[in-house]
Amino acid sequence: MKLPRLAAAILLGVSMNMAACIGFSLSGGAVFAQTLDSAMPSFENLYETDHFVLKWTNKSRHSSDNIKDPQIIKDTGGYLEEAWTKYTDLFGRKPYTAPGRDKIDVVFRNIDCYGVADPPDGPIQFDSDAWVNNRNIRQPTSAHELFHRMQYAYGYRTRWTPQKPFTWFTEGTAAWAEVYVWGRVSRNCKVDTLFKDTRMDLYRADVNAMPFWIYFVQGNQEHPNNHLMVEYFEKCEQLKDEKLALNEVINKTYGSVDGFFTTFAKDRKKGFFNDVCEIPYKCILGPDGQDLVDEVKNIQKK
Ligand SMILES: [Zn+2]
Repeated sequence: MKLPRLAAAILLGVSMNMAACIGFSLSGGAVFAQTLDSAMPSFENLYETDHFVLKWTNKSRHSSDNIKDPQIIKDTGGYLEEAWTKYTDLFGRKPYTAPGRDKIDVVFRNIDCYGVADPPDGPIQFDSDAWVNNRNIRQPTSAHELFHRMQYAYGYRTRWTPQKPFTWFTEGTAAWAEVYVWGRVSRNCKVDTLFKDTRMDLYRADVNAMPFWIYFVQGNQEHPNNHLMVEYFEKCEQLKDEKLALNEVINKTYGSVDGFFTTFAKDRKKGFFNDVCEIPYKCILGPDGQDLVDEVKNIQKK
């Protein structure tokens, strides 16, 4: 279908705005980036850790695939192992690995988003271009993609499929994991959008639903209860329904579900973050190093 030029331009504008907030890198020359459908380059380099096999190239004819410095890969292997430890300690189960495999393949090539962990049996993929040029996204993005493997371990997309819209759950909890592991996010919008637009529907907020999950585990209070996330995923696995599961856990923990959501809506407008939060929720860094909790406090003061 051919669109009139203006409509096409508006659509492109909308999709670029959305892309900016869900991890797609469309800036600068990246408009010409390869997509996930582009052919995989061959990987002549391999670095193995306890739970991951990382593969990369410095010989692709598509230069944005290439990573020259092996230290970038070693660092990332360390980040992934650290996230693995934090997840297995908290959840008491391992991230999903493909049938017959006990390690997860991780490949670096130029794609049109920071990372992807889909389909469940495929490798985790990271955008080599973003990896080389934007070092501050490496920690949160690796924790984020690995957390999708935790979701798969609880049956999401491996034994049950949620109804749309579900990215407030899948992307929202993966963004929560960025903060849980590193106290930082790959994009500011994951922290500030819900406060800039207090009318945004939580179920349409995608990765920007992240603060809701902090609220759910009381990460904005003095004593976060991260174990609630474990109870929640166990309930999802049991009920095969992320909304029902959430309501059950909220009901058991906080009482009235409606009351919980009403208070959340109120706190979104004023006084979300308590000053005495524990790390990592006390201070959440954006990719440029700014403290986004401070930014949210300022938004709420206005
Ligand atoms: Zn994701």
